[in-house]
Amino acid sequence: MRFYYGPSLQIVNKINCKRKKMAQNPFENALSQLDHVSEVMNLEEDIKEILSKPQRMVSMTIPVKMDSGEIKLFDGFRVQYNNYRGPYKGGIRYHHHVDLDEVKALAFWMALKCAVVDIPMGGGKGGVIVDVKELSKGELERLTRGYAKMAFDIVGPVIDVPAPDVNTTPEIMEWFSDEYNKILGKETPAVITGKPIEKGGSEGRDKATAQGGFYVLEEAVKEYNLEPGASMVIQGFGNAGAHMARISDAAGYKVIAVSDAEGALYNPEGLDIETLFEKSPGGVIDRNAVKAEEISNAELLELECDILIPAAIENQITEANADKIGAKVVLELANGPTTPEADKVLFGKNIPVIPDILANAGGVTVSYFEWKQNMENEKWSLAEVDEKLSKIMKGSFVEVLERAKKYGVDLRTGADVLAIERIREAAKEVLK
Ligand code: NAD
Repeated sequence: MRFYYGPSLQIVNKINCKRKKMAQNPFENALSQLDHVSEVMNLEEDIKEILSKPQRMVSMTIPVKMDSGEIKLFDGFRVQYNNYRGPYKGGIRYHHHVDLDEVKALAFWMALKCAVVDIPMGGGKGGVIVDVKELSKGELERLTRGYAKMAFDIVGPVIDVPAPDVNTTPEIMEWFSDEYNKILGKETPAVITGKPIEKGGSEGRDKATAQGGFYVLEEAVKEYNLEPGASMVIQGFGNAGAHMARISDAAGYKVIAVSDAEGALYNPEGLDIETLFEKSPGGVIDRNAVKAEEISNAELLELECDILIPAAIENQITEANADKIGAKVVLELANGPTTPEADKVLFGKNIPVIPDILANAGGVTVSYFEWKQNMENEKWSLAEVDEKLSKIMKGSFVEVLERAKKYGVDLRTGADVLAIERIREAAKEVLK
């Protein structure tokens, strides 16, 4: 759940009152976030009104022929939140808990994320209510092709460009793109990103989130005077966490603890990350691969270190453990790992939290690079991708920091201000 507050007690109280009334509805949380940032930056009421609603929401019923021969209906959504800065961009999530309010909130956050890193994309998100574990591969393919058929009229390279999200893979992106191309009668790889490389995907997409986070970290290390070789603790050893460990280790940081859902490995002298990376595919750590002590995830979060990187799931740093966090800087590779209450404690303790919307935006940035390469029929090398990513991520950190200092707020609010400033500029152009 994302919920934001800032420096003024008045604002905090107002939001706290609202919080008591509201259910844990992600879209209400997104609106509270909008309320808060609007107050901080004195946003025009009409722009705020526009941003409090998605531009378009499509609900669909997708019939799928199951392996048994029976036809089953699945509910799906695509929310197109805002396109003032460019085509809607955002993943398609397959999960049994998907609901429209969640998709609306995620689409709003995508609009902010694209704006923070200043890529010319808007915010969108899709979802299908489905438990993927209950589907065969053929059923999953037919569901995806069904979703592409239903979304055909509202997606396209200059309209809305979906991508992978929870439980959706490069192969699923390929099925979607293939179905879209069949209906259109034309090869259009730029309709979706996150495709396999041989089907028009970009170099560097697999490590993009971590690589982008690492570039942000390099700027943060300078700003907060951390030593080269600073110690690092990472929660989660999947796509984001394991790549982050590997990139940071290679750059000379001392990764002293990492974890998966089962628990953590700790070695104050530094873990052998290269071996751990090789032996721990799919986010599950091989506990016998390296010399280390086993500790719990709760203990990992409280270790004394320079940099703590939550890269697993949401709501890990909470009111219950925020005052025990032993890091000097927190970098959020996961989405929503810090609760609003914990944010407040960490801000009070002068521990900067580099927010998810900035720290993990490397993923969507390289998705945009994929779209751009497809649109311009180009193929960039990994070195080109990394160079462009570095420039964007480092520049965005500097701009977020500047907003945080200007308004006397935490980096999360600074990132929101920057994003809304950019959307407001685009709105003025669109609405003139
Ligand atoms: P993943 O599934 O590849 O890996 C998740 C890791 O977290 C695994 O090691 C898993 O064991 C661990 N984990 C799960 N539950 C845990 C728990 N309760 N305690 C500790 N560890 C636990 O996922 P990912 O793609 O690396 O994503 C991780 C986070 O980063 C998510 O919040 C995701 O939304 C965010 N993110 C990822 C990307 C991306 O490109 N992969 C982009 C933006 C944001």
